[in-house]
Amino acid sequence: MEVIVAKTAGFCFGVKRAVDKVYEQVEKGTEPICTYGPIIHNEEVVKDLERKGVSVINSVSELKALKEGTVVIRSHGVAKEIYDIIESKGLHLVDATCPFVLKIHNIVKKESASGSEIIIIGNDQHPEVEGIKGWCSGPVTVIESAAEAENFVQESGKRLCIVSQTTFNYNKFNKLVEILSKKGYDIIVLNTICNATEERQTEARAIAKRVDGMIVIGGRHSSNTQKLFEICKNECENTYYIQTLVDLDVHSLPSMGCVGITAGASTPNNIIEEVQKNVRNEF
Ligand code: SF4
Repeated sequence: MEVIVAKTAGFCFGVKRAVDKVYEQVEKGTEPICTYGPIIHNEEVVKDLERKGVSVINSVSELKALKEGTVVIRSHGVAKEIYDIIESKGLHLVDATCPFVLKIHNIVKKESASGSEIIIIGNDQHPEVEGIKGWCSGPVTVIESAAEAENFVQESGKRLCIVSQTTFNYNKFNKLVEILSKKGYDIIVLNTICNATEERQTEARAIAKRVDGMIVIGGRHSSNTQKLFEICKNECENTYYIQTLVDLDVHSLPSMGCVGITAGASTPNNIIEEVQKNVRNEF
C-alpha cells in the first residue's frame, strides 16, 4: 500500500504567522489576551491556547465591553470598524491579518474610493469576506454561485471591480468571472486567490486523480478544507473529511492500493503525521 502525503498539506504562511503571533504574546506574559474570532479553524489549537489563557471574542459587542488587554486580529482580517473600536478603547492591537488579505482590503478601499462597484467572489458568511466588505465605501455585492452571477444586474452604472476571497476555488472563480464578463459591463478583474490555496488545490486534485482513497484533514468550519474536500471528491469517490485521527475509521475503508492525504491551511503538522502513521500501520 502506497501513501502519498501532499507537500502543501497543513499550515500556510499566513496561518502559521498568526498562530505564532498569539504564542509570542503568551510567552511575553501579556495579559489579558484575546483573539477576535478563533485564531484558526482548528479546535485543537484553539483549546490549547484557551488552556494558556487566551480567550476568544466573537462579536463587536464583546469587543466594546473589553476594558483592557491585547486583541489579536486573525489571518482572515476584519473590517475597518474593528480597528477603529480597538483604537478608541486604547486596547493593544496585534494585527495578524495575512498580507494577502491586507492586499484585498487596500484594493477595495482604493477602488471604492475612486467610484468602482466591488464584487467579491466568495462566501458572504465567511469572516474574510465580511472583513473585505468592511473596507468598501460604496456598493458591494458578494457572488458565490453561477446562478448568482447569471442573475447579477449592475444598477450603479459604475465600473465593476472583481476580487476574490483568498481561499476560493480557482476554476470556479474563472467560471464566475466568465459569466460576469459576458454582460458587457466595464470590468476590472483582480484574481486575489492566494498562491498557497491554488497550489494546495492543484496538488490535491492531482493526487486524488491517481489514488484509490483520499483523506482530507481539517476543521469542520474551515472553508479552504471544505473546498479541498469538494475538489478531491470530484476526482475520487472514496474521499473522507476528518478533523483528527479519531474521525477516521480505517477498518471501514475498502481495501486500497494507494491512499492520498492532504490537509487544510489550519491543520497542525502533528495531526497530519498522526493520520499518516496510522494509515501506514493499518494497511
Ligand atoms: S490561505 Fe493564503 S491568504 Fe489565507 S492565510 Fe494562508 S497564506 Fe494567507
